[in-house]
Amino acid sequence: RAKERGRNHYRFYSSTMTSKASMILKLENLLYQAIEENEFCLNYQPQIKLTNNKVTGMEALLRWYHPELGNVSPVKLIPLAEKTDLIVPISLWVLRTACQQNKVWQKAGLSKMPVAVNLSARQFQQPNLVEMVGQVLEETGLEPQFLDLEITETALMQNHDLAQQTLGKLRHLGVQVSLDDFGTGYSSLSYLHKFPVNTLKIDQSFIQSLQDTPQNTAIISAVIALGKTFNLRVIAEGVETLQQLKLLQGLNCEEVQGYWFSRPLKPEDATDFLGQT
Ligand code: C2E
Ligand code: MG
Ligand code: MG
Ligand code: MG
Repeated sequence: RAKERGRNHYRFYSSTMTSKASMILKLENLLYQAIEENEFCLNYQPQIKLTNNKVTGMEALLRWYHPELGNVSPVKLIPLAEKTDLIVPISLWVLRTACQQNKVWQKAGLSKMPVAVNLSARQFQQPNLVEMVGQVLEETGLEPQFLDLEITETALMQNHDLAQQTLGKLRHLGVQVSLDDFGTGYSSLSYLHKFPVNTLKIDQSFIQSLQDTPQNTAIISAVIALGKTFNLRVIAEGVETLQQLKLLQGLNCEEVQGYWFSRPLKPEDATDFLGQT
């Protein structure tokens, strides 16, 4: 059809399509190179217990700096990697690096705590996930209770039976499991007892509008109560201000994570942070 409209139009049309396809191809190549060239890095954000200000965990967050593209957010990078098979080596790299780092901290005599690693829904459904986790633990020598896997409610709800099986196997391995962005996904509370998780991470959207939206107080209290009933850790994410912190303390929230205490830190800075607390 474009052809009928004349040469110029056709040329314009086809070159647009070519450039879009070639851009995706280019990104894929860059991502592939990123693995080979070690362009990835993990930053670590502390999780803090409010009663004693102790670090209860470190969340590993993926960073990719490319000289041409600049910083590429994991929110973009992970879905792109998932469209290709690159998600497999990236998952392995993240898991291995986080476990190695935690082992380094332990060997340095810093107080022991789990390192948290995010898994996308797709990653959680990878058939060899449990095997890969087991291998990385063995290879790095990290005891399983010091690895915490963060998944979303959506990942669990996509395929209940598979999710339940996978969670069972992961718990059998002895690793911890956290429900990330809790409250935003499509989930039913009645399923909670079927999924053996250790931690609920209240999504940052509830915390950030805490002062303006009184309903959020009720939601946060409910999640904290739920955690007490099921004997789960509850972490409030995205705590940025003292005011938010005070409100959370008032709700008997025990653990927080967010810019107020620390931004995600480069490995060296994370080590310093652990040394000071
Ligand atoms: P998430 O797991 O919910 O991580 C929390 C995000 O909020 C991080 O963004 C973190 O830097 C940011 N954050 C922490 N404290 C605050 C705060 O006080 N205020 C605000 N506004 N933001 C805060 P980041 O690092 O850009 O990661 C975004 C998402 O990308 C993560 O959300 C996670 O779902 C995903 N992600 C990150 N690393 C990985 C990874 O290695 N694998 C997978 N599959 N996903 C990852
Ligand atoms: Mg997370
Ligand atoms: Mg989150
Ligand atoms: Mg998130």
